[in-house]
Amino acid sequence: QAKLAGKNCYRFYSRAIDQAAERRVQLEQELRGAWDRGEMSLAYQPVFRLADRRLVGAEALLRWQHPQQGLVSPSVFIEVAEQSGLIDTLGPQVLRAACRDAMRWRKVQARDDEPLFVSVNVSPRQLRSGDLPATVASCLRETGLSAHQLHVELTETTVISDEPHVIELLARLRLMGVKVWLDDFGTGFSGLSHLRRVPVDGVKIDRSFVADIPRDADDLALTTAIIAMAHSLNIVVVAEGVEKPDQAAVLRDRGCDLAQGYWLGHPIDIDGFLELLA
Ligand code: C2E
Ligand code: MG
Ligand code: MG
Ligand code: MG
Repeated sequence: QAKLAGKNCYRFYSRAIDQAAERRVQLEQELRGAWDRGEMSLAYQPVFRLADRRLVGAEALLRWQHPQQGLVSPSVFIEVAEQSGLIDTLGPQVLRAACRDAMRWRKVQARDDEPLFVSVNVSPRQLRSGDLPATVASCLRETGLSAHQLHVELTETTVISDEPHVIELLARLRLMGVKVWLDDFGTGFSGLSHLRRVPVDGVKIDRSFVADIPRDADDLALTTAIIAMAHSLNIVVVAEGVEKPDQAAVLRDRGCDLAQGYWLGHPIDIDGFLELLA
């Protein structure tokens, strides 16, 4: 009897795997052309300077409104886009749209306000296939956005590999005036020593470190150490996932420069963001 149950269990299990694989193939097909069909858009999450609570920029976050399934999370479809190579066309589309939107912000901002930056997520494949600095340069040229207003976010693990090619790409971007930020910082854990060799302008402390501060003494100590180390290397520190006022307060006290999170502002569509500015 036990044997029988085991067999059924195995059948069920392998069927579940087949279904997941099938689902993935289907998702990939649906993802193809989704941007051109108008199913995708960018949401913008405001980023604030903690010292004076000023809005300084926004992170562009890709959204996919699937015709049947509704909103699909980027943590699901970005991986599919990355593995299938679809990111090679999607990435530049996102970059161009974000630059175009940031130009629109300029128009509604008060004349003497400092220009807001737009921060765009770039996945590992975008560094390895194609020429990211060239793509960036053409987006800036086409939209008229200043390089200083553009940030690119790369996950810590992408650049940790120490590939000379990646380091060189980052250096070229920075030479153009584009800022390079390390996303989800602290999760890769070889982080701090790598900051010496990897040319970056900022680190974004992963929200898993922020979630339990100030209560969790270890997380608070780690966060404080990251801030001190980054600052000693002239690197800007951004905290992600600030959901409570006491998190913002303690981060500000510890010298963290910028922050974003649901307590400060949810990601919103371009119209909502323009309203926020006006
Ligand atoms: P990420 O770059 O680390 O972006 C932050 C994620 O945290 C976003 O999720 C954002 O909505 C969410 N978030 C912001 N504030 C809070 C908060 O206070 N609490 C919590 N729990 N979450 C918060 P989202 O939009 O689902 O994106 C997930 C990931 O997908 C991003 O993580 C990024 O790695 C990737 N992604 C999104 N858009 C793009 C894109 O255009 N290109 C690429 N390559 N990746 C993207
Ligand atoms: Mg990001
Ligand atoms: Mg992040
Ligand atoms: Mg994250």
